[in-house]
Amino acid sequence: MITQEQLKQSSELIKKTRPAYQPILDFYSRVFLAQEQNRQDIFLPPVVIDPDLLKIKQKNEMPLIDQSEFLFDIKASKQLFDTICGLAQDFAPGLSHNAQSLKNACKTQSFRLETLFSAILGNQGSTLHDLGKLLNVPERELTFFGYASIAPSIRTCSEQLENYLAGKPGLKKGYCPICGNLPDMAFLDKDGKRHLKCCFCGHEWLVNRMGCVFCENNDKDYQHYFFNDEEKEYRVNLCDNCHNYIKLVDLRKIDRAFYPKLEQVTTLHLDMQAKEQGYTNSGSSANDMSLQA
Ligand SMILES: [Zn+2]
Ligand SMILES: [Zn+2]
Repeated sequence: MITQEQLKQSSELIKKTRPAYQPILDFYSRVFLAQEQNRQDIFLPPVVIDPDLLKIKQKNEMPLIDQSEFLFDIKASKQLFDTICGLAQDFAPGLSHNAQSLKNACKTQSFRLETLFSAILGNQGSTLHDLGKLLNVPERELTFFGYASIAPSIRTCSEQLENYLAGKPGLKKGYCPICGNLPDMAFLDKDGKRHLKCCFCGHEWLVNRMGCVFCENNDKDYQHYFFNDEEKEYRVNLCDNCHNYIKLVDLRKIDRAFYPKLEQVTTLHLDMQAKEQGYTNSGSSANDMSLQA
């Protein structure tokens, strides 16, 4: 795991090479640090899967749980929500006003944070919509603040669940073996093996090197990629069969500690380039970090 010191260093290194990301990093690097710190306060019992159910899931190549089954530490999540709203007030002018309203709404108890957290886990669009209306905050921002606050709990759960996968051959599928969500990023490790990162729980898993991770198409006429000369550590894979794209970081070409979320928020120009060409990334919706700080 990356240390807080390494996270700070990586953020500084990126700032130097891509100064345009300075304002975004001023906010997000603090959010990431707060999330890492928050993990130390989390206490959660492991999610237990019934042995018979586990066999069925494994036989049918199903993920271990549904995302609604993740647990969150309510005290730690509430604390982090308050911290992140505070950081937005100070470092994210674009989110500042709504962050203030959310903080006030919590203080006056005009809504229960548990409701927001559960709605995100349960993917309850109508509850999120209603909450957004009630608080007069766009749903997307509400989801951002809520998700960012429970992300450390989700990661903790996900790490505990990884024990169920240990010693088993990986499925090497395009969905997360823990929670079934799609990847928002890929990376090549030091041996050139390709891994995917879950957009929701942060789990990383090994897949085959070639082919589209979303539709498994492996026809070279349909599989393309682009990269920018001045940042050779990134590549964007495009699929003309399902029209998805995924960003790929080559860890053999970076000289900083790898923290996927940091790479994610400092490569938004690549998302723009891919979208301009008509591609989407199905994995990026659950964990939307493209909000302008
Ligand atoms: Zn997952
Ligand atoms: Zn595809």
